[in-house]
Amino acid sequence: MIYQRVALIGLGLIASSMAHAIRRGGLAGEIIGTARSAETREIAREIGLCDRVVDTATEAVQGADLVVLCVPVGAMGGVAEEIAPHLSKGCTITDVGSVKKAVIDAVAPHLPENVHFIPGHPLAGTEHSGPRSGFAELFDNRWNILVPTPGTPPEATEKLRKLWEGMGANVEEMDPEHHDLVLAVTSHCPHLIAYTMVGVADDLRRVTDSEVIKYSAAGFRDFTRIAASDPTMWRDVFLNNKEATLEILGRFTEELFALQRAIRTGDGEQLFDYFTHTRAIRRGIIEAGQDTDAPDFGRGAKR
Ligand code: NAP
Repeated sequence: MIYQRVALIGLGLIASSMAHAIRRGGLAGEIIGTARSAETREIAREIGLCDRVVDTATEAVQGADLVVLCVPVGAMGGVAEEIAPHLSKGCTITDVGSVKKAVIDAVAPHLPENVHFIPGHPLAGTEHSGPRSGFAELFDNRWNILVPTPGTPPEATEKLRKLWEGMGANVEEMDPEHHDLVLAVTSHCPHLIAYTMVGVADDLRRVTDSEVIKYSAAGFRDFTRIAASDPTMWRDVFLNNKEATLEILGRFTEELFALQRAIRTGDGEQLFDYFTHTRAIRRGIIEAGQDTDAPDFGRGAKR
């Protein structure tokens, strides 16, 4: 057992997966959960997600030695303000938000000095949301980034690292700016591109009738899966990681123009070289164990 009492604030995909993974590893004495809506709390009670589901966040954090904020990025500051006076002295508070700098700026000012704030971000997810969508294996062999704030005792960070490792994840530490740039490249911009492509295809559908759906296996289907991700979460990601996503989108647009030009001028060599390079990147991801080489894009291997 690593923590005596873990409080999960918000009971969506990430929190419910944490509850399952913590139980699988026997990592906490007790798991207390709460969510904003009575409906989510009721579902959590019904499926026995936590040892106790309470009605308010202030109640949930009482006596907890670990508090995990599992709400959308834009809601973190408000929740921190609400729970701050009720946190136990010496407890650790962390989060799972997809953006780090904005979350730190929103949360840190509310926290008392006698707690340890160690922001985090598990690089694992699906396009599903809510308390029923979680599963214990979500974090297995995935990365979790920890962003300890200055002055955090190494023992507190070590303890949180052990929890994530117990849930199956590999843990890395990073500073918040670097995290936000890396994630803009690897996750945030790809999501925006998928949203855009699906939007474009939807416009086209009016012309081509149902062909977009019928032939969607040809690459487009993977875009639709990503573009089905939670609208609140992703709105908040872009509003809160503005600088890095705009920087990467600028570079993306330049590359897109270069490829567009190669198509127009019939520069097959440039296209071939570019696609050879990107194929090698895909191979690197598979070799690093972050996806499988299955012909269905690894889909069958995961939930
Ligand atoms: P989710 O399944 O949509 O669940 C979100 C939870 O937050 C729900 O319990 C919801 O309560 C609660 N909530 C929503 N708005 C709130 C507000 N304004 N105030 C208080 N509570 C609120 O979300 P998730 O996918 O678990 O994501 C949670 C966090 O993890 C986000 O910060 C996200 O950036 C991060 N994350 C997500 C993924 C992913 O792929 N999904 C991956 C890594 C990190 P109700 O159910 O009562 O509405």
